[in-house]
Amino acid sequence: MENSCLFCRIVAGEIPASIVHRTGTTVAFRDIDPKAPTHVLVIPVAHHANVVELAADPAAAADVLATAARVAEIEGLDDGFRVIFNTGAHGGQEVFHVHAHVVGGAPLGPMLAGQ
Ligand code: 5GP
Ligand code: ZN
Repeated sequence: MENSCLFCRIVAGEIPASIVHRTGTTVAFRDIDPKAPTHVLVIPVAHHANVVELAADPAAAADVLATAARVAEIEGLDDGFRVIFNTGAHGGQEVFHVHAHVVGGAPLGPMLAGQ
C-alpha cells in the first residue's frame, strides 16, 4: 500500500467508497463523478500506477478484467458497455493507481469526444 495513494486508501477502508464488488485481489466502486448511469472503477488491490505496469503482472491484469465483466453482470449492462483505461497525460489519467472505468446503462455515443 502507498499511503499517499487515494485508491490504496480506498482499498484499506481509510476513505469511504460505494463498493460494488470485491475479490481477494480487486475492488470495484462507484466513480464519485459518474459520466454515465453506471460508472464503476475496478482496481487491483496491489498498487500499479497504470495499465502498462498492470500488464507486467498478468494475474492481476486478468483479475481486473474478470471483475470488470462481473460488474457489468451485476449492474445489468446487458446491452453493452465500455471498459476504459485512461493512461498518461494524453489519456487524461488523474489518479495514478490503475483503474478500469466500466461505463454503461445508456447509449454512450461516439468513442471519443469531438468525433
Ligand atoms: P482518471 O482520469 O484517472 O482515468 O479517472 C479518475 C477517476 O477517479 C475520475 O473519474 C474521478 O471522478 C474518480 N475519483 C477521483 N477521486 C475519487 C474518490 O475519492 N472517490 C471515487 N469513488 N472516485 C474518485
Ligand atoms: Zn495505490
